[in-house]
Amino acid sequence: LASREAHPQPTVVDVAGTKIGGGHLGMIAGPCAVESEERMNDIAAAIKAAGANLLRGGAYKPRTSPYAFQGLGEEGLKILRRVGDAHGLPVVTEAVDPRHVELVAEYADMIQLGARNMQNFVLLTEVGKTHKPVLLKRGMAATVKDLMMSAEYVVAQGTTDVVLCERGVKGFDNACRNMLDIAAVPQIQQISHLPVIVDPSHATGRPELIPACALAAVAAGADGVHIEVHNCPEEAMSDGPQALLPEQYAEVMGQMKKVAAAV
Ligand code: PEP
Ligand code: MN
Repeated sequence: LASREAHPQPTVVDVAGTKIGGGHLGMIAGPCAVESEERMNDIAAAIKAAGANLLRGGAYKPRTSPYAFQGLGEEGLKILRRVGDAHGLPVVTEAVDPRHVELVAEYADMIQLGARNMQNFVLLTEVGKTHKPVLLKRGMAATVKDLMMSAEYVVAQGTTDVVLCERGVKGFDNACRNMLDIAAVPQIQQISHLPVIVDPSHATGRPELIPACALAAVAAGADGVHIEVHNCPEEAMSDGPQALLPEQYAEVMGQMKKVAAAV
């Protein structure tokens, strides 16, 4: 159902008014985690002014260590919803547990399925059943074919509102957090009608490498770019070292628009 054969025309996913695919770029930005309403408001105002059209922020964080900050939970969902509404930005947030899916669907315009859960088939099915737009991230050790099969789990529940996200895979070089597979973009577009976006933040883990990778994504024909932005990265509760400052985000947005106009 997610293949080009099933559906030759590209799918345009509508996330509460923000279109992704078929020439519409989904520009997702925001902090890794929702931390406070004040901080969320400042970041939302900045990314909106820069031209982003979707606000992200995790309320449930999948952390490598059980002792690391796990997110604000429902309070985080409430903050994200209020801030998104205040700035006219649809919101995307991750569900990590099938038991939270209903609650997340009450607040989110788009539900993120993270890299670590790409093959959590029970979670994929529960999120698919909500018929909310889905952002499905590629697992760090998943092939493009694995990603397509995971998308199939969601689409099988009766929705084609699924956006795929290349966010880097495990490489042999630890210079970067992951290794960005830019070829996955045209590869997915060849075999699937679903939009595909790129997340250079988790792919590189290094802010100074994000602009070049974001531009490469747009040049490769991606249907959007997902970037983590924080106004005080040294104080961030998660993924601070890879966050762009709002002014850096505004600069790369300007460059991405030029590349998009040229391709
Ligand atoms: C995130 O978007 O903050 C996240 C945890 O991403 P990933 O699942 O790609 O690691
Ligand atoms: Mn993150």
